[in-house]
Amino acid sequence: MSWLSPTALESRRWRLARVRDRMIALGVDSLLLSLGADLPWLTGYVAMPLERLTVFVLRRDGEAVLVVPELEAPRVPAAGDLFELRPWGELEDPVSIASSIAGSCSACVGISDRAWSTFLLSFQDAMPGTRWVPASRVTARLRAVKDQSELECLRAACRAADHVAGELQAGQLRLLGRTEAQLSEEISARLVAEGHERVNFAIVGSGPNGASPHHQPGGRRMERGDVVVCDFGGSLALEGDVGYCSDITRTVSIGEPADPEVARCYEVLRLAQQSGVEAVAPGVIAQHVDDAARGVIDAAGLGSRFVHRTGHGIGIEEHEDPYIVKGNEIALEPGHCFSVEPGVYFPGRFGMRLEDIVAVTDTGVERLNTADHSMVFVEP
Ligand code: ZN
Ligand code: ZN
Ligand code: ZN
Repeated sequence: MSWLSPTALESRRWRLARVRDRMIALGVDSLLLSLGADLPWLTGYVAMPLERLTVFVLRRDGEAVLVVPELEAPRVPAAGDLFELRPWGELEDPVSIASSIAGSCSACVGISDRAWSTFLLSFQDAMPGTRWVPASRVTARLRAVKDQSELECLRAACRAADHVAGELQAGQLRLLGRTEAQLSEEISARLVAEGHERVNFAIVGSGPNGASPHHQPGGRRMERGDVVVCDFGGSLALEGDVGYCSDITRTVSIGEPADPEVARCYEVLRLAQQSGVEAVAPGVIAQHVDDAARGVIDAAGLGSRFVHRTGHGIGIEEHEDPYIVKGNEIALEPGHCFSVEPGVYFPGRFGMRLEDIVAVTDTGVERLNTADHSMVFVEP
């Protein structure tokens, strides 16, 4: 049996109230929250991604019930009077239990974006005449603004990832002669040693493989002169709360880079990332941060090499709102947390990316990653 800490409990009470306000504003009668981050954000419980349905039924007029398989009920952290628990036995039908709790409050129902389609199809049969919307319409904007307890969780996760990035830059991890997969494994082990409960990814792209932004680390052995992109992160939970994600990218070089273009490109990348971070402040339009980073890369004639958006929000999920991308016209607010991660990629030659997580404060920006931003030469 675990407990939500008093702070975690208090922040959830606040989140529930805000969710209900927004349900009323949007005309959403009930939420059915199954897999995904909305459920732990509101209840402190992460559902098992299995065929037995777990669903949190939240009516805008009051009732909040977590419908959970009886055999998984002992995993639910004690949360006082925050919600009721309704364990369902092996021979019961959880869909009919949940839909009768939603009851009259079901003209318009929001369901988790990540709920299995088999569950949605069963709910659609059980609740004919209901209009269905993605739950993110209610929750995404609220979840994007982190409260103090979430900021503490994110700071801890980012600090842990930063520590591993520092070890990489200090030459404590061997690269030369090892495969990308071996380095990826060591980075993962160190993320866990620094307190992560789970590793989400540990991308290692060496030499020409660095030009594939989401390269799957493989059997290539790293050589002198290689530029190596390391992008890694996981989820770290503080006592009495759920896990929050880290995500950092540092690019290192094994000795002097073999390609003569590398040094000039890295200087452009570093200035682009710095310009993106410096553009962050409350009231700034999200796409302006993308413009600020992209403008530096464009001006250097490398615009066609920067093939992705500048960043993504981060929280319980590794990618969530707000997205730092052209076309996103939301104004940044204190509590928004996201990555600033420009990259440039030269297929067949090399790639590079530089990524930090930042938080919008009342007056500007807080940097959650501070590991050296230069391209460190390891094993010279
Ligand atoms: Zn990525
Ligand atoms: Zn990353
Ligand atoms: Zn990222």
